[in-house]
Amino acid sequence: MNCPYCGYYDSKVIDSRDINDGVRRRRQCLKCDRRFTTYERLQPTGLFVTKKDERREEFSRDKLLAGIRKACEKRPLPSRAADKLADDIEAGLYRLGKTELSSVVIGDMVMEGLKRLDHVAYIRFASVYREFTDITDLKREVDTLVNGEPVTTPSSQLPLLPTEKLEELAKRRQGTRK
Ligand SMILES: [Zn+2]
Repeated sequence: MNCPYCGYYDSKVIDSRDINDGVRRRRQCLKCDRRFTTYERLQPTGLFVTKKDERREEFSRDKLLAGIRKACEKRPLPSRAADKLADDIEAGLYRLGKTELSSVVIGDMVMEGLKRLDHVAYIRFASVYREFTDITDLKREVDTLVNGEPVTTPSSQLPLLPTEKLEELAKRRQGTRK
């Protein structure tokens, strides 16, 4: 990791701390002496995603998170809710123990997660993912939500924490990371 200030390639670690899902390192640039922080997380390799058009690409947590964040934009959710959902889905995917998965599997997991998290975020995601072609499709999906279709949990996915618990977690995490 190059220094974000001067671009120098080398730095020394002045503090290292385990966080839930990785390691946080405080570094000091060997050239300009300025300090910056890096986060290291385990990235198991070899999970590929097959898209609808048969293209194949490496699974990207960043892309998954970006999709979830976009759906949750401006929704009254705890700041870490999207990250938590991405973590749960990522963990669920690796637990399946496969090296290749259809993007549909991931999309369905996101749908299930968002359905429990926030109905507006769910509809936003669904309208893109399911490619609603007209208002009738959208209405049907909303009606299903309103009428309280029983929520089915895929066995591969962790049950999501209730919102209060998420908020509490988010607060605690923010507190310890500052
Ligand atoms: Zn520097």
